Amino acid sequence: MSDTSSRLRIVWIYPDLLSTYGDRGNVLILRRRAELRGIPTETIHVHSSDRVPVEGDIYLIGGGEDRPQILAAERLRADGGLKRAAERGAAILAICAGYQIIGESYGDDADNPLPGLGILDIRSGRGTSRAVGEIVADVDPGLGVGRITGFENHQGRTALGPSARPFSTTVRGVGNDGATEGAYQGQVIGTYLHGPALPRNPALADLLLRMRVGDIPPLQRSWGDALHEERLAAVL
Ligand code: GLN
Repeated sequence: MSDTSSRLRIVWIYPDLLSTYGDRGNVLILRRRAELRGIPTETIHVHSSDRVPVEGDIYLIGGGEDRPQILAAERLRADGGLKRAAERGAAILAICAGYQIIGESYGDDADNPLPGLGILDIRSGRGTSRAVGEIVADVDPGLGVGRITGFENHQGRTALGPSARPFSTTVRGVGNDGATEGAYQGQVIGTYLHGPALPRNPALADLLLRMRVGDIPPLQRSWGDALHEERLAAVL
């Protein structure tokens, strides 16, 4: 955790611009699963008029429509805080529009390339069709997350550069390109999974916690595990 605080600092980036499909649920689940392990937390909501603090432990950045996405990217680029936080070793979970804008570039609503934050070695453009619906994917086995479930709704398609690795292999749905879903690089994870992703995938929340606090004990089975299983059964 950050040297300056004994609390795990969870930073939610731009709830006013990037919060489609219940992104707040990701914040709540992360906090809850930390506190059930006796890890005190502090949650910081950073609106688009605020500076992004650099001392956070875990940053969450959500999905958004095309125009709010552009505004968010411009403000985050001008602010510089999220990139500095990544350089300091913070964990980041970026969803859909958030995933696209932490990359090198992404397409606007006419598919003109716009600069991203350059945190993740990915480039996104627009596909010929919109990817909408339930998505299931198998996370890179090295990350210990297993199969994940979510909901996708995006026009963008994403290509990975050599520094980023596919976060998962698509079982159902589209993700990056119909074959892989999301990307990760160090402690930075990007994914197309809404849902919201963490309530539907408690193991993904625990991966983010492990990135900052190390080993954590398993928790008793909860409604989150039941939701995870129910969503997989409904789709497959
Ligand atoms: N606007 C982006 C796209 O359509 C991201 C959408 C989203 O965040 N759901 O690709």
